[in-house]
Amino acid sequence: MTPKIHRSSRAAGALVGSAVGDALGAPFEFGPPGAFTRRFPQPQRGAQTEMCGGGPLGWEPGEFTDDTQMALMLAESLVDRGGLDEADVFARFRVWAEAGPPDIGNQTRAVLASGRPWDVAAAEHFARSGHAAGNGSLMRTTPAAVRFAKHGTAATMDAARRISALTHGDPSAGEGCAIFHELMRVALDGGDPLAAIPAALDLVVPEHRERWTTVLAPDWTPEQATESNGAVWPTLGQAVWALRTGRDFAEVLRLVIDLGGDTDTVACVAGGLAGAVYGMGGIPSRWASAAHGRVPGHGEKVWRLADLQQLAAALDSGVQQSYDPGVIPRIGPAEVLPGIWAGNLDGARYSETDFAVISLCRLGEPFPHAVHRMAYIADNDYNADLDVMLADVLDDMKALHDQGHRLLVHCHGGASRTGLVLRGYLVREQGMSVEEATAHVAARWPHLGLWNNSFTAALERLADKND
Ligand SMILES: [Mg+2]
Repeated sequence: MTPKIHRSSRAAGALVGSAVGDALGAPFEFGPPGAFTRRFPQPQRGAQTEMCGGGPLGWEPGEFTDDTQMALMLAESLVDRGGLDEADVFARFRVWAEAGPPDIGNQTRAVLASGRPWDVAAAEHFARSGHAAGNGSLMRTTPAAVRFAKHGTAATMDAARRISALTHGDPSAGEGCAIFHELMRVALDGGDPLAAIPAALDLVVPEHRERWTTVLAPDWTPEQATESNGAVWPTLGQAVWALRTGRDFAEVLRLVIDLGGDTDTVACVAGGLAGAVYGMGGIPSRWASAAHGRVPGHGEKVWRLADLQQLAAALDSGVQQSYDPGVIPRIGPAEVLPGIWAGNLDGARYSETDFAVISLCRLGEPFPHAVHRMAYIADNDYNADLDVMLADVLDDMKALHDQGHRLLVHCHGGASRTGLVLRGYLVREQGMSVEEATAHVAARWPHLGLWNNSFTAALERLADKND
């Protein structure tokens, strides 16, 4: 656990992490155990990553599915209405269902197509069908867990139950969402969600407590599941098991997708929790950069990383930010190291599209480049997970460089963050000392900025690993 990560990074990590899990797991939906690792025994950091697309529904690489589509409708409703307006959420879901999304859960479809009002549709369906504890309400609840976390345990668990009940009349699904909300609340506060499980279970409605206690026990393993992971209990059980077992965000997702079955949803749930625990910087940039998708019935907008981050900020802080990068004179691209070019924001934006671009700042509009990694580092000394982000960027650069891509590294001004990465590349790949690397870059890139002392300290830690 990494307690220093900023809350905003955890909130963004939760939302982005769930979309990443959804998109990463989708091609493996209904597949056998172990399929992900058989296909990707090693991290894939080149132009083709583990975001491979395909699967039974033919997803684009990085495209998220109904899990995230529903989460985005819920999120937008929470922001637009300033809180929970169940009728509004239900109406948005219904418009989406009528637009014919490629993927929709059976239970969700039946309830939304019933033509019944929001406050009775799911309950009537449950009364008729009896079994309804699918994972379809758990998979979409991350935005609400972020939105209500600051209101405390009782309020966030109550919101979880009410939102679940819109499509899932079986209260056991609502109890699962309530537990998830409480674990997310603890994680966003910088606590350990695993340690919070016993207290959360105490707040579960008594008749459902035993079953939830079983799947969330510290020694529970996925083989002990008594139903498929399309059901809500094993879905949360597996996500929590992976969070307990994995050492970082990437490993948590690998573990759950390798379980097979309902891989997009289990990875979506696990990705939400893991994203809150490890923060935005813990999510591999090759995955976060690829996540995207539309919400059928709700316009043509393509949601991407920057949109998800902005939405997370609105949910967590209540502030609707919009980002205008401003206009600054274009710098670069210029070749600073063999095969590695540098620039500022517009230097990169208007560069030839065959560059593999590494962006270290916010962008505004997306770039047209086919290979584009976004790893947002702040231009200050308060990056809590700088070492993790730097290593991730340098590993991707090495892989792309080895594949013969021309790399273009840039940030807003092309000075400090760009300089960090150029210097880091020399430290890592050529074994230079920080002093040597700094002099080497300064002689070839006059825009180099050295005002962030924490950047040089991170490079010193990187250099120590060379010894
Ligand atoms: Mg799905």
